[in-house]
Amino acid sequence: MWRIGHCRHWISLHTCTTSLNRDHFLIRNAIEEEPENQPATKPYQKGTTSRRFPACVERRYLQLPSEGCGCRSVKAICSGHILRGRNIWIFCCLVLLVLGVISLNSRYLTDTVQRMDLPVASTEPPRHFVNVDDTLNFGARPAVQTRTSWRAPIIWEGMFDPKVFDQKHIQENSTVALTVFAVGRYLDAYIKTFLTSAEQHFMLGLPVTYYVFTDLPDKVPNITVAPQRSLRVMQVSKHNRWQDISMMRMKTISEVIELELRHHFRYVFCFDVDQEFKGRFGSEALGDSVALLHAHYYKAEEPAFTYDRNVKSKAFMKTGDYYYHAAIFGGTWENVKHLVDACYLNIMVDKMHDVEALWHDESHLNKYFWIHKPSKLLSPEYCWDESIGDKSDIHVFRLVWAPKHYDTLRTK
Ligand code: UDP
Ligand code: MN
Repeated sequence: MWRIGHCRHWISLHTCTTSLNRDHFLIRNAIEEEPENQPATKPYQKGTTSRRFPACVERRYLQLPSEGCGCRSVKAICSGHILRGRNIWIFCCLVLLVLGVISLNSRYLTDTVQRMDLPVASTEPPRHFVNVDDTLNFGARPAVQTRTSWRAPIIWEGMFDPKVFDQKHIQENSTVALTVFAVGRYLDAYIKTFLTSAEQHFMLGLPVTYYVFTDLPDKVPNITVAPQRSLRVMQVSKHNRWQDISMMRMKTISEVIELELRHHFRYVFCFDVDQEFKGRFGSEALGDSVALLHAHYYKAEEPAFTYDRNVKSKAFMKTGDYYYHAAIFGGTWENVKHLVDACYLNIMVDKMHDVEALWHDESHLNKYFWIHKPSKLLSPEYCWDESIGDKSDIHVFRLVWAPKHYDTLRTK
């Protein structure tokens, strides 16, 4: 609860530690008035004034004229019979005084607005006036869906000018952390191809740091990375079950964002290791909250999606928008932190109830993106399974699935 100035009303700020879109949060939800001792003549009515600044705040802080203040006196002077001689001079002085007060108040208004935002510290970078996604050509790929119902772009080859995106992100000093896990036998099987191919295709021209999480740090191969790019190896313990290795990535990613990434990177992208870059995977993929359409389901209808249909799981979904693939997700560090925290929490709640979601972290990810719509979707060009027969929609293979070999690679 925050008490603002002399206002008779309490303003409740519902502090939501999990919400990261703080401006949005403040505007839409934060301020609610609890009327208290409303004057009988003018009861407060919800909806009659802005949600952001309830009437009392507007009056007290924005100093809007209310009954009985200077305006009426000015009217009296105007309507009287004394607008003559020196009284005209007095009138002019009054007008000047009123104008002075108004101008002082308008300065106070700006100050007050900022002060009301202060309790929630903003970590947002300066707003960019040109949104590079506005340059996307949504008509470039008539055979596929290029925009969601909530108007998020779905990125396909032909929709974007790579130079425009790269230039914009270089100008904005965009920095990217890529997280990838290679635990147990997955290290030897996949990490070298993953990293060397990423160096040829992933966000070229931007500062990128690869965060490799493994239980075998000494066995990570030496990869030469381009200037402005680096490789960090972080040791993690190995969970016994492969399902837990996969799911507990959410916890580790949350921890590393908190400890390190948030201080150095604007964007965080999380990848499965069992894949290989084959073509440009560039800055057009960057966005506030980015999800990937699963190659096997992008043409399917909702009933075919393999959501978790178990009502006992936190990942339960009756309906949804798309089937997203957990092999890639990303966004600003704030949004990724929010995502991994939410998924990890739900995974742990399931564990407490002795439940495991059908597709583990992917089921929780789908639930998350159903509730928190991603701001950008990547088409299956960004993660393609070459065993799929119909490749007609895939104009560029940017990343492809590596052979799986579950039997020999996974811990049982
Ligand atoms: N993983 C790992 N070691 C394991 C199992 C999984 O490092 O023993 C990591 C690895 O990054 C892998 C990801 O967890 O890409 C997800 O597992 P997997 O790729 O087997 O899942 P799938 O692609 O079949 O959904
Ligand atoms: Mn995988």
